[in-house]
Amino acid sequence: LFAGEVTFVKGVVAMSGLPGADRPEVCFAGRSNVGKSTLINALTGRKALARASNTPGRTQEINYFALADSHYLVDLPGYGFANAPVAVVAKWQALLKQYLQGRQTLRRAFVLIDARHGAKAVDEEIMALLDSAAVTFQCVLTKADKIKASERDRVLDQVRATLARHPAAYPEIVLTSSEKGDGIETLRAIVAGID
Ligand code: GDP
Repeated sequence: LFAGEVTFVKGVVAMSGLPGADRPEVCFAGRSNVGKSTLINALTGRKALARASNTPGRTQEINYFALADSHYLVDLPGYGFANAPVAVVAKWQALLKQYLQGRQTLRRAFVLIDARHGAKAVDEEIMALLDSAAVTFQCVLTKADKIKASERDRVLDQVRATLARHPAAYPEIVLTSSEKGDGIETLRAIVAGID
């Protein structure tokens, strides 16, 4: 699945801009700086496919990538900027809600959590939105190379406890390091198994 060509399809700022709902798709969500761009690049084997969106005021686009002729990978704007303008946050939340509730071909959301920090209140807000939209979501811990085994177990427990509060959560947590390559093949196999 990931061996074929991966292409950037388009950046979307409104529901009317979504590409045709003709393929299964999975989306990636996470706080800004969680390592989402790096993970998408690692998954697709393309160094600069997804770009970091590290400017709070920047246009919040939903970026669509196509895996050969199978799935769409959907990169949602990072959330949780400390000083993001209220209007930017509101616009993003509205689009996110419309997208999650209205996209028929969305099969699963991956919610990325920094392995050092665990699930935060903003992550739970997204999870609650996914619950209400009945979109199954799976947690992916990022930057696993940055923590010790003891720390990792503590964070896994915390994330498990968080997931237990969310009916749309898929129980299996994927531990990844884009830096070391850990979990990348596992995540590819998970995406490949979704149709
Ligand atoms: P985004 O804002 O979620 O797209 O985050 P980025 O992908 O831009 O990553 C934010 C920062 O974390 C960058 O400095 C990355 O190099 C770093 N980073 C991302 N993934 C990893 C990882 O697996 N391990 C380590 N050590 N650093 C990472």
